[in-house]
Amino acid sequence: MLPTGRSSSVAWATKTRREIRDTGTADGSVVVVPVGSIEQHGHHLPVATDTLLADAVSHLGAERVADDVPLLVTPPIWSGFSPHHTSLGGTMTLELEHLLALLEDVADTALENGFDGICFVNGHGGNASVIDNVVSTVGKSNPEAEVAGLTYFQLADSFIDEIRESDVGGMAHGGEFETSLMLHLHADLVTMDDADAEYLDEPYERGTQDLLVGGALSTYREFEEYSASGAIGDPSLASAAKGEELFDRLGNELADVLCSVSEQAR
Ligand SMILES: [Zn+2]
Repeated sequence: MLPTGRSSSVAWATKTRREIRDTGTADGSVVVVPVGSIEQHGHHLPVATDTLLADAVSHLGAERVADDVPLLVTPPIWSGFSPHHTSLGGTMTLELEHLLALLEDVADTALENGFDGICFVNGHGGNASVIDNVVSTVGKSNPEAEVAGLTYFQLADSFIDEIRESDVGGMAHGGEFETSLMLHLHADLVTMDDADAEYLDEPYERGTQDLLVGGALSTYREFEEYSASGAIGDPSLASAAKGEELFDRLGNELADVLCSVSEQAR
């Protein structure tokens, strides 16, 4: 990985200004912006987990359509909105409005290179509301551009039941899902000896249960109220093989989305 993000044929950071302008001015061009966070993920995963995964899925999806869609992936935004994690240590968070402003500035100046569309690919649940908002603010200020955003793990909702072994709650923060992806992509950064199951004791029936099972109700608690380790779910069920399958299928889902964004942008 480059210090500025994953290295691939579609990495913005590896291009010259002329190459970026050539891609941006092509018909149906899309710029992809991975958005992560630096936040604690328990004892078994590194704090950059969300940034690493958003970046990797972005590059995979983009590379799979690069023959048909002119597109580039910017370096990942490594700082997110994680106030609920700070008390456990290791976390750096932006104020919500600062993250919004950062994403607006990145989007506005990326689009100035002639791109017809932009897609934010978020890796952290706490950023999701900001992604929804920035799609509206950037869309409003760039009426010519197609503006979209998603949180990548939600792309797994159609196939996750074929892969998951944990009960609902097992694929939460640092659980079976994220740990499997990290074992596939960055095994050297995972300490499976410290990967213990810890299920969330959510008092609200309509509260969020899992990365893939959201609830209607939003609540606020410090993360240490949920979890002793800082992770939630069952990372002990994670495997590199599951991570490989998840990654492959997430890449296909994102590739479809990026094709659609490009079509809408033309
Ligand atoms: Zn995470």
